[in-house]
Amino acid sequence: MPTRRHFISASAKGLLGLGAIPAFAQSSTVGQPPTVWPISAPGQSATHGGRQATGTGLIYDARYLDHVLPNRQGEPHPERPLRLVRMMEVFAERGLDQELIPLSVLADPMSAIRSLHSPEHVESVRRIEVTGPVAELAVAGALGAVDAVASGQVKNAFCASRPPGHHANNTGREEGFCFYSNAAIATRYAQRVYGFERVLIIDWDYHHGNGTQNAFYDDPSVLFFSTHDWQAYPGTGDPSLTGEGEGSGLNINAHLDCGARDVDMLRHWDAKLLSAVSGFRPDFIIVSAGFDSRRDDLLGCFDLTDDVFGRMTRTAMDLADEYAEGRLVSLLEGGYNVEGSALAAAAHVEALLLG
Ligand SMILES: [Zn+2]
Repeated sequence: MPTRRHFISASAKGLLGLGAIPAFAQSSTVGQPPTVWPISAPGQSATHGGRQATGTGLIYDARYLDHVLPNRQGEPHPERPLRLVRMMEVFAERGLDQELIPLSVLADPMSAIRSLHSPEHVESVRRIEVTGPVAELAVAGALGAVDAVASGQVKNAFCASRPPGHHANNTGREEGFCFYSNAAIATRYAQRVYGFERVLIIDWDYHHGNGTQNAFYDDPSVLFFSTHDWQAYPGTGDPSLTGEGEGSGLNINAHLDCGARDVDMLRHWDAKLLSAVSGFRPDFIIVSAGFDSRRDDLLGCFDLTDDVFGRMTRTAMDLADEYAEGRLVSLLEGGYNVEGSALAAAAHVEALLLG
């Protein structure tokens, strides 16, 4: 994966001397039953329509730590378990773990995965020892969050999961640290199982969500809004590409230059997202929450502060309140400055908890 910066910075190296890992963030063994929360069945008590749910759910499973990508240039891979470990630590330090409602992962995500990915891709990923099952578990987490939000168990939810998903296509291999297209699968699942008709996907990761774009490029039932650096990996995300066929106008690519600040990001939201949403009127919102768009990321070059992640979250929630009875599911994508990503994710979750 091409980088603008060497992926080990001084700040990240400083995090290697972490303190004690919270008990709920300890690693476990893939294949064992979850030790934290029980597993739900799909489609339980779908009651969307008319009921205003409250509370913010959290998907986290210690098995997400078991997936480890090979070292690069003698250093730990940037998409590493420490990202989640530190995120859970910061949540605990701020007391967020006491406020978040633990959610169950979906028992069997395979039919949903197969609804989007080719048999060849699925079989190839499933053959990857340890990583294959964890990639399935990331999807299962996203779908568990959809279940909880769609059924009214919680108003919104954040998935502290890995591997990420928005670069995954059907190539039979990892792309940009992604294996399955978590956000796209969750979108299809929300539509198929719960009958939602128009899903808005907001992707604020530094990189373009090419897998998500590809899944819905001609689909009139999904509005995809991605802010990213078009010059970075994977080289897609041309702002002139706006969808095709019945999906024309529903693919919004917004480019930001290196050094982009909060105001630059928010300008795109004002100019491009808000008007599109008023015409689209989504009944469910999914956020591809990548925090490599935050300042000081190892793979990104934007200058966004933690504050803007809270502000974007608030705006997304306002849109959800206006059009979708508050329904919003957020999925962790990138973010490789371990400390910075944890802080930005905390700002994101603190906003979600405000309801
Ligand atoms: Zn990214």
